[in-house]
Amino acid sequence: MYDQRMQLGRPGRPVYEEARNRKGKCPICDVGRVRQVDHHLPKSVYPFLAAVPINLLPICGDCNREKLDKAPTCYAEQALHPYFDDMESDRWLRAELITINAAGEPYEIKPSEIAEDWRIEFRVDPPSSWDEQQEERVKHHFSQTYKLNEMYEDQAADDIPGLELALEEVFEVGGAQGVRAHLEGIARTRAHRNKNSWMVALYEALAEHSWFCSGGFRQIAAG
Ligand SMILES: [Zn+2]
Repeated sequence: MYDQRMQLGRPGRPVYEEARNRKGKCPICDVGRVRQVDHHLPKSVYPFLAAVPINLLPICGDCNREKLDKAPTCYAEQALHPYFDDMESDRWLRAELITINAAGEPYEIKPSEIAEDWRIEFRVDPPSSWDEQQEERVKHHFSQTYKLNEMYEDQAADDIPGLELALEEVFEVGGAQGVRAHLEGIARTRAHRNKNSWMVALYEALAEHSWFCSGGFRQIAAG
């Protein structure tokens, strides 16, 4: 049924085209460009919704691949719909810089120490106004349906080395305090557009990390 509808000139095609042609960034991850149209509820399970406009969501290729035909089996597994579920009013995304010691364990590093390794973790950190169901649903959306934690960790790993030059200049003038203020400023600026952007979470996490601000950024930038 769906494939017939997608043929040129048949009902359903204009709706599909309109959704596919919307410009801009992916409303799910805020990273990729909109390239494909996701059937929010999969057409394999809900063929009667195949060309219903509200079920057609323009998203990026990465998000579409992660979601595939995942069909929710309960409320908590229902992916959020960016046009119908309010994902922007509350702050729910946080990140953390985790330093790793020689034994491969996460540990709290002191300013003068050298980190064996490091990673950034992104997680859903719900406000107290959310009930348990809402929390489960956003967590499922984030780390199961779209695996946004993995996408953001890759983004962060690519982004951090490029900070070194700017942070070095800031550090020379203002030390660790200057670096912290600089990172907080970037986070605040980014939050105007999307307070749950991976960059806001990342830059806040870096600003909060004493070791990173007091020179650890050099080690991280060096890889
Ligand atoms: Zn996406």
